[in-house]
Amino acid sequence: MEEFDAVVIGAGFAGLYQLYRLRQLGFATRGFEAGGSVGGTWYWNRYPGARCDVESMDYSYSFSEELEQEWEWSERYPAQPEILRYLDHVADRFDLRPLIRFDTRVTSAVYDDRTHRWTVATDHGDTVSARFVIAATGCLSAWQVPEFEGLESFRGATYHTGNWPKEGVDFTGLRVGVIGTGSSGIQAIPRIAEQAAALHVFQRTPNYSVPARNHPLTPSTSGPARPPTASTGRGPNTRVAGTPPSRPLSPRWRWATRSGGASTSDGGGSAGRR
Ligand SMILES: Cc1cc2nc3c(=O)[nH]c(=O)nc-3n(C[C@H](O)[C@H](O)[C@H](O)COP(=O)(O)OP(=O)(O)OC[C@H]3O[C@@H](n4cnc5c(N)ncnc54)[C@H](O)[C@@H]3O)c2cc1C
Repeated sequence: MEEFDAVVIGAGFAGLYQLYRLRQLGFATRGFEAGGSVGGTWYWNRYPGARCDVESMDYSYSFSEELEQEWEWSERYPAQPEILRYLDHVADRFDLRPLIRFDTRVTSAVYDDRTHRWTVATDHGDTVSARFVIAATGCLSAWQVPEFEGLESFRGATYHTGNWPKEGVDFTGLRVGVIGTGSSGIQAIPRIAEQAAALHVFQRTPNYSVPARNHPLTPSTSGPARPPTASTGRGPNTRVAGTPPSRPLSPRWRWATRSGGASTSDGGGSAGRR
């Protein structure tokens, strides 16, 4: 059985940073990721319109000044392909891929009180031993298909935003039903409507939605010339929830935020709060 100091489960934002940091501290580390590559949330959620509702400059790592200065975000609220490119870049730049076994799901982790070590097993049948196990498995990486009566006999194609086909879906000329108007539904509906012959939206609970006011970023605000952020102590780490309100919130928005049912959207690409 291979022995490691630490095992990290998941290769999204959290898992990649854990791998980077543990290796830097001199720990022999092995990562396991159920998906075929890095990205986590942004690897699985490839649905049309998928976009971040936190500003790109804040939705970035803050452990490397060089990374911060060299990466240029193209939009205020980045879309899924750009975030995935960013995480691919991070994995390559810091040579993290060799530490990770992709397409490998951890099936059990058993702690031995006597040896003070974990035995971690995967769906490939291999088993490793480690002193520490870090579950960077995310809070939204497991998609849930509702148990609709008769779903198994539905003759059309069905998709879930949280497990969208890599090759995309062409809805041109099709009749489409979207179930749900949470953040993902709000983002996907306008994009699917551009293609579909007819679109029906099934909504149980309406959400409050505000314009995202997304816009392109210039190199001076997103690239090397921009002012240093996190690493100078003026960045996300110093703010409540890591993200500053960039403009005063209207009383209605404050109310919606407190009630927990708010999303933001706009015609040119929407953003929604999870
Ligand atoms: C559609 C969507 C939009 C979002 N938008 C925003 C946003 O705008 N702003 C924001 O702040 N947050 C947003 N989030 C939340 C987002 O999940 C976090 O911001 C962040 O990406 C989570 O990173 P993570 O590394 O913790 O987990 P994840 O990105 O979820 O990564 C977890 C990884 O663990 C892997 N994994 C899980 N179990 C196992 C196992 N047993 N074995 C092996 N691998 C396993 C999964 O395959 C996954 O790749 C969004 C989430 C979703 C789903």
